[in-house]
Amino acid sequence: MKIVILYVCKYSGLFLLSKYLMRKKLLILCYHGFEIADESQCRPKLFIKKETFERRLKYLHQHSVTVLPLDKAVEGIENDSLADNSVVITIDDGFYSVLKVAYPLLHKYGFPATLYQMSKDMLTGMPVLPVLIAYMIETTTKNSFIPNQHKFGNIEGCDLTCPEHKEKFIDSCISFARTLDSSEKVEQFYKEFGNELAVDYENIKNLRFLSLLNESEVLALASTEINVQLHTHSHQFPQNNAAEASLEIKKNKQILEPLTEQPLVHFCYPAGKWSTSHWSILAKEGVKSATTCLPGLNDSSVNMLALNRFLDGENIPHIVFEAEVYRFSECIRILRNKISRSRSSTRDI
Ligand SMILES: [Zn+2]
Repeated sequence: MKIVILYVCKYSGLFLLSKYLMRKKLLILCYHGFEIADESQCRPKLFIKKETFERRLKYLHQHSVTVLPLDKAVEGIENDSLADNSVVITIDDGFYSVLKVAYPLLHKYGFPATLYQMSKDMLTGMPVLPVLIAYMIETTTKNSFIPNQHKFGNIEGCDLTCPEHKEKFIDSCISFARTLDSSEKVEQFYKEFGNELAVDYENIKNLRFLSLLNESEVLALASTEINVQLHTHSHQFPQNNAAEASLEIKKNKQILEPLTEQPLVHFCYPAGKWSTSHWSILAKEGVKSATTCLPGLNDSSVNMLALNRFLDGENIPHIVFEAEVYRFSECIRILRNKISRSRSSTRDI
């Protein structure tokens, strides 16, 4: 139904009107991984197919938007000099597929992008733990998991046909893997867990579709239109432990700085979890802007340490992407907020 309404709004001229009304605001797009094997089938929010990503870039190219580097866009907001209908492309985490799939397309269309790179898994070269576990469990053809205490500690059995059980099972497997104290033990667990589920861990590892870029690849990308920036060392940014949060940025910076020739002053909250208590830590670390996963456009009324983004992925129908690019969705959000505010003020009377 929503899709039909969007098409009606598009063809009745409302998209064009909203694009004009909201032209001074900045749209920040957010991507994660780009499909190499079949990963978008079980994690469509996290991965996008090459064809879909190219369709998005082609659309931006054909629809008179200004794709800017993040630095320029932040400056434009601060100086009130942002070009009309500006868009920034950001990519979180730094999967290997950024180099293999996304970069050639970005280069083809001449678009800059900001890459928020986490560093711990970049150094180990192993697949990203939570994504790997979820992928193995989502793609297994087995209907159940029978625990073997010797190999899998306190992981309990699971009926894999039940989505609710499966979610809890994924969490418990991730927690178990985090208790293992060496990368050899973690890798051994991945192999045995894969065998149990009849999923080929070696193939996942070799194709690197759930692994991050390595140092030399980040170095190579940093000399192109890709601007490498901060995303914490281990994808953790605690809200109640300033010292630990600060250390996450310091480590991330220490590892990335020798690979980039630009200052690392832009940050993305891991998993979009943020609070205002983070702001003093970020300011102390010299961070100028930070992006969240909250939907919305950006202008000078938005705090630079809590910038809004649109999360694009294989789960997003193209018309929904069009509605964001034409800023129609922002008009709807503003309208919704006004209605809910007027409702709550009516209740207060
Ligand atoms: Zn992330």
